[in-house]
Amino acid sequence: MPSPARLDAISHILERGPVPTAPIQSLQQLWASDVFSLDKMKSALPKDVFKSIQRTIKEGGKLDSSVANIVAQSMKDWATSRGALYYAHVFYPLTNLTAEKHDGFIAPQADGSAIAEFTGKLLVQGEPDGSSFPNGGIRSTFEARGYTAWDVTSPAYLLETPNGFTLCIPTVFVSWTGEALDKKTPLLRSNAAMNKQAQRLLKLLGNKEIAPVNSSCGAEQEYFLVDNAFTALRPDLLLAGRTLFGAAPAKGQQFDDHYFGAIPERVQVFMQDVERQLYKLGIPAKTRHNEVAPGQFEIAPFFEAANVATDHQQLTMTVLKSTAKRHGFSCLLHEKPFAGVNGSGKHVNWSVGNATQGNLLDPGNTPHDNMQFLVFCAAVIRGVHLYGPLMRAVVATASNDHRLGANEAPPAIISMYLGSQLEDVFNQIKAGDLKGSTAGGLMQLGVDTLPDFPRDPGDRNRTSPFAFTGNRFEFRAVGSGQSVAGPLVAMNTILADSLEWIADELEAQLAGGISLEAATFTVLKQVMQKHSAVIFGGDGYSSEWHRIAVEERGLENMPTTADALPVLQRPEIRELFERQGVLSPLELESRFEVYAEQYILAIEVEAKLVLRMARTQIYPVVMAYMETLTRSLRDQEQLGLHPDRSIAGQVASLNQQLVSQCTALEQALAQVPHGGVSEHLAYCANTLLGLMLKVRDAVDGLEVTVDDAIWPLPTYQELLFVR
Ligand code: ADP
Ligand code: MG
Repeated sequence: MPSPARLDAISHILERGPVPTAPIQSLQQLWASDVFSLDKMKSALPKDVFKSIQRTIKEGGKLDSSVANIVAQSMKDWATSRGALYYAHVFYPLTNLTAEKHDGFIAPQADGSAIAEFTGKLLVQGEPDGSSFPNGGIRSTFEARGYTAWDVTSPAYLLETPNGFTLCIPTVFVSWTGEALDKKTPLLRSNAAMNKQAQRLLKLLGNKEIAPVNSSCGAEQEYFLVDNAFTALRPDLLLAGRTLFGAAPAKGQQFDDHYFGAIPERVQVFMQDVERQLYKLGIPAKTRHNEVAPGQFEIAPFFEAANVATDHQQLTMTVLKSTAKRHGFSCLLHEKPFAGVNGSGKHVNWSVGNATQGNLLDPGNTPHDNMQFLVFCAAVIRGVHLYGPLMRAVVATASNDHRLGANEAPPAIISMYLGSQLEDVFNQIKAGDLKGSTAGGLMQLGVDTLPDFPRDPGDRNRTSPFAFTGNRFEFRAVGSGQSVAGPLVAMNTILADSLEWIADELEAQLAGGISLEAATFTVLKQVMQKHSAVIFGGDGYSSEWHRIAVEERGLENMPTTADALPVLQRPEIRELFERQGVLSPLELESRFEVYAEQYILAIEVEAKLVLRMARTQIYPVVMAYMETLTRSLRDQEQLGLHPDRSIAGQVASLNQQLVSQCTALEQALAQVPHGGVSEHLAYCANTLLGLMLKVRDAVDGLEVTVDDAIWPLPTYQELLFVR
């Protein structure tokens, strides 16, 4: 039996060392050096042009065409001075990936020469066609083409590859009739909707000067690094991003010795390389550390405006993946690459605020700030209670399903953690009435200040999908491979909706002639009386919570994407998005269709891969091994010995199981229902996944029985511990 490629990979990896990178530069030299930043625009543009673009960035709106021409010119001059020959409109289709359409600056001249050319029109609008991007039928209904348009609020930058730079322009991607085909457009709209209602409410609360309100996001990205000599031998990691087979290693993460331990040198060098590239792109990478599982790490930036943070998050994923390759790693962004090992999430830290009132989810120091904070916080409580199923739906993917509800990640029930002190304040509001409040020892709104809420991470409830962490909310159910746009759209939109409801109520109360404090108190109390069921500070992993949440609190538990995605088709969700001007019913329906298709595709590809690997990689090895065993048992018998046949029997029976389960899976794949999408979703969740696991059981049983020297797939032990 020849020694398998797996063993060669191990010796190859053991000889690898860290890959040195470019000479070290200071933060000043690195920071945003590849970004066409406001700074650079300021020095390159005439004063009035700069002012005009600055205004567009701050207040939104269209870029004047004369301004666009001048900006395009200086952008091109900057990019070509760095050697860029091409520019790309970068956009964010519904796939969670980043897409680019590249065009040359080149303009051939009549005299045979060539010049670099770039106009305002080319900057502001591109036509990538992109008809093969998923659009859920929108463009067949309307126009086949889509176009991209520069999102002025997100700066252009240079993307470096070993052969030079490309000028990248972040854009929205819409159909000719204006339907959003991407993830950026709804994010911008959701922010505008939230701003509109926040302005209204801030005014009602007595503020005079109110700057535009924006949402902020800081996304913590978890990932695995696996040596690419191993991934090359694992078709499942290459094609599905996760292992479809693999027995648990003798040593897993039980010892917790990896978490926050010393970062292995090869990994640290990789991280430094990533961080330098991020700094050049103006992405404020801030923390790095080991995560819970062996081979798992995290990178988190300093938070930024949600829109820019989202573009930067996409770039971070791209940079992680491409840099990993250079360092001989594969960066796995899948939510659950290894069964039984901690999965990867992307905690989305979110807050809203502006330049005049500051962070509206920060309690602040004065009674007035406190009252404002409680109103915004109550708006979030109301939104999460009314639209919890939507929050579940926006994190629903085939890969994230493996993580949610496993004993390490938040459950598939959306509840909210406030921390004991804030929860107590809201309970007082729920129980209290303003007149009796001081006498009863209760807080008096607009007069008393709130206690200081702890921001110590140690105080946090790690089992909650949505937690208040002192001055922001942390949405922890988001998957590591996902774009953060969808979750941010949901949070901004439900907040807009609740702010609108609260503003309406307040207006009605105030019209009755009562004081602002009394009116606010009444509205807060109403919110708490209707929506406190969503607040939960206990252990979200416990089976008791699963029962209480559903039976007593009326919250929904949606374990799979097949349960969660149809939420997008509910009338109240359609009305929410339409009312707030974030997604039209058609746009929403197209999202359901696209995400459903992605789920189905992901699972069917995996099912086929299970079959292929089991039959072409595992079965032949097992057959050969059985032959070897049989021969050696026969030899022993001829010598008059009575050898133990139990191992051979075990291998044969597992092999039989492998063959029959493959047949069952193959038949199931041939019987996929052709009725509706929902039926198809459910079939993937309830039939195919279960059958895949049965094949896996046989393979994993064989892995721990068959001769290790001939096992074809790198094992969990190797994938997780050899680097
Ligand atoms: P932890 O692991 O304790 O949650 P990290 O420092 O790893 O903390 O990540 C916290 C993230 O939250 C960072 O990206 C940080 O910039 C971000 N963040 C901090 N304050 C806010 C805020 N007001 N709004 C949005 N994000 C914030
Ligand atoms: Mg966190």
